[in-house]
Amino acid sequence: MPYQDEQSVQEEVDRLLSGRTRDIRLSSELQARFRERSFKQTSKIIRAWMIWVIVLDVLAMIVNLLLLPREPAVAMLGPALLMPPAALAVYLAWARKLPFAALDAVLTLGMLAILLSVALMSYVAGDELQERYLSVMLFVAVTAIIIFNVPQSVTYAISGAGLALYLVFQLAHPALGTASAFAAFLFFASGVTATVVARQTMTILAHRTFLLELRDARRVAELASANAKLEQLSRTDPLTGLSNRRHSDDVLAMLFDRDRPSTSSLALLMCDIDCFKALNDRLGHLEGDKALAAVARTITRSVRPKDHVARFGGEEFLVVLVDVNTQEAQSIAQDIRLGVEALKLANPGSSAGPVLTISIGVAAEVDHPGCTASELHRAADAALYHAKSQGRNRVALASGGTAQRRHAS
Ligand code: GH3
Ligand code: MG
Ligand code: MG
Repeated sequence: MPYQDEQSVQEEVDRLLSGRTRDIRLSSELQARFRERSFKQTSKIIRAWMIWVIVLDVLAMIVNLLLLPREPAVAMLGPALLMPPAALAVYLAWARKLPFAALDAVLTLGMLAILLSVALMSYVAGDELQERYLSVMLFVAVTAIIIFNVPQSVTYAISGAGLALYLVFQLAHPALGTASAFAAFLFFASGVTATVVARQTMTILAHRTFLLELRDARRVAELASANAKLEQLSRTDPLTGLSNRRHSDDVLAMLFDRDRPSTSSLALLMCDIDCFKALNDRLGHLEGDKALAAVARTITRSVRPKDHVARFGGEEFLVVLVDVNTQEAQSIAQDIRLGVEALKLANPGSSAGPVLTISIGVAAEVDHPGCTASELHRAADAALYHAKSQGRNRVALASGGTAQRRHAS
């Protein structure tokens, strides 16, 4: 059966759990899932019970042959031999995972055959053994009703079969009058009914536990997804969708900490929009925001998927390039600069020209061997300052030797 969409199943779970426990009735969808979930355990119990019945039957045959008069003991052998194949058939069916309808049918028919076998034994034994074996048959039915976690229809079928066989074979008892047979039947019927009610209560409690498990599993999944969303939000700049400064610090720390192959080299680009204050002042903050988002997109387009772009501050962006030499880093920086210029976004108050431009400081790790993340960052900052002082809308390379200077001091 195709599963309904998860949402409506979960709504059904909540609805059932919000009501009274005794009113819990699983929908067919939930019932199917419950059976799926409890199949292994139910199958184990039913198979163990079938083995128990076979062993008891064989033992009873042996004891009867040893202790009873020869005639009834031999007469009982025939009906007793009906039981092992019936129990075995149920055992084998429940050892495989046949469709539930087939399993239920096999179990119902198998139980009918088992109960009939005991009832026939009682009939052929006759005399006082007849009553005793009919009680044994009801005992067999009652144990099955109690321990089989199967749908109500199967429980009803087993209890109905047990009681019907009891009544028929009581009435067939030559020494018992009809009234006495009915009296005994009513007595046992009340006992079997109480057993069926107890089974229903256990089933409802098992359903409730199952519903609680479903709800818990959903809540854990919801919490995990909310956490993932929060984590993502805490790393993201809402205006541009880029990483924020906090996350870029983490990325840098990770890149500098881990054991990189000696051939892999990083470069940092500090990018700062030129005269952005002027754009805000002339065109308004809304236009400023749009320009920031456009520049962010241009930068992202200009780098490779393995690189990392972050909005570092107001109109500053940090790019971490992975596996690059100085030339490649400068070339990517130029692509960014040209890309921003090509946007042709007006910046009327800019001293660098009529359109929006960006200045970039480049610091490549190969030029600063052994430097730390913050040293490379400072070098890129210094280069950016140089680019600004040289007239803006340009790329400037950090002068090398940070590490050497550090070691010299
Ligand atoms: P320079 O070329 O020297 O970098 O000049 P600048 O005007 O770009 O630099 P300055 O640091 O003087 O001004 C940066 C401006 O960026 C000031 C601030 O109003 C603006 N800014 C910072 N964050 C945002 C933002 O989220 N939205 C908008 N619209 N403006 C922002
Ligand atoms: Mg700035
Ligand atoms: Mg600026």
